[in-house]
Amino acid sequence: MAGNKGNKLIFKDLSRKHPLDLDLRPRSLDDFIGQIRVRTNLNVLLKAAKEREEPLDHILLLGMPGLGKTTLSHIVANEFDVEMRATSGPALERAGDLVGILSNLNRGDILFIDEIHRLSRSVEEYLYAAMEDFGVDLVIDKGSAARSVRITLKRFTLIGATTREGLLTAPFRSRFGVIEKLDVYPVEDLSRILTRSAGILDMEVTDEAKELIASCSRGVPRITNRLLRRIRDLAQVSGLDTVELDTVTKGLTMMGIDEAGLVGTDRQILAAVHRAGGEPVGLKTIAVSVGEDEGTIAEVYEPFLIRKGFLLKTARGRKITPSGLKHLADSAGFSDGGLNDQTELFL
Ligand code: ADP
Repeated sequence: MAGNKGNKLIFKDLSRKHPLDLDLRPRSLDDFIGQIRVRTNLNVLLKAAKEREEPLDHILLLGMPGLGKTTLSHIVANEFDVEMRATSGPALERAGDLVGILSNLNRGDILFIDEIHRLSRSVEEYLYAAMEDFGVDLVIDKGSAARSVRITLKRFTLIGATTREGLLTAPFRSRFGVIEKLDVYPVEDLSRILTRSAGILDMEVTDEAKELIASCSRGVPRITNRLLRRIRDLAQVSGLDTVELDTVTKGLTMMGIDEAGLVGTDRQILAAVHRAGGEPVGLKTIAVSVGEDEGTIAEVYEPFLIRKGFLLKTARGRKITPSGLKHLADSAGFSDGGLNDQTELFL
């Protein structure tokens, strides 16, 4: 626990986005559970760059929200012993914002841009030049006084993270030397993450309880940790020292999560598709029926329902499978006691 204070300092820039993630973030590659291929590749990259005493290549991390892209970037900075500046695509509104950050980076430092697919086209163009030539031409002043000033940058490393691989242009992708995709985690890895997190939070959790939390986490560590914290609250107010299976079952029900790990929005999506009576349903129709935006459905809900075997994606739209139908019927009486807080899982 002694390291936690340092942890908070290092990650303070992210505290506004996911305050609860902070003290559970692994800080070294060895602490980062699962994703063996990605870890191995990053290890080789770090070792080789250290041996050559060169800055790292630009890295692009792909994958759903909550799989560990931000955590990995911090780990890379930690292991490479360099500073990291973190920002996001929507935060970099003007080229001047980007140039301001870049010109303050030292050789080898890392710029982490989350949601890099949301950069404006003009900022993206500046970034191209910065990534390739480590210099940008900034136009200052307007009208007849306008002139271009060349700004030379130190050799920095860009780590970009995106949940929407398809929205990045080919020229942009090609400027990254390393592209790694994080996959959803198997239940065994999530159970190991739970063991680690429970240790940090000083909680006793039985193996069966861990397995149930892990299997209802949609393959996403952020959700695993969030469920663990909510269940810890429940155990605490119930005066329990150890989290056992029945506390988890009760906690999950209170959060609107059924035994297959589905939240209310998942069930609403299945119901919306079912109402079409076997006809394929488009994303737009689903989005309107459940009151969520199309991107979130495509990115967060749908992949899980497809993995579960409840939903099929065809060229003409989405269809419900026989097991999806069965689940819908079985969970018809599912009640969350009016405490359903599903959206919190994904923010
Ligand atoms: P992303 O940037 O992909 O949205 P984060 O890096 O913010 O995801 O990860 C969310 C949380 O999940 C982190 O705070 C961390 O506690 C946990 N986490 C993610 N991946 C792992 C992992 N492989 N091992 C342990 N914890 C992890």
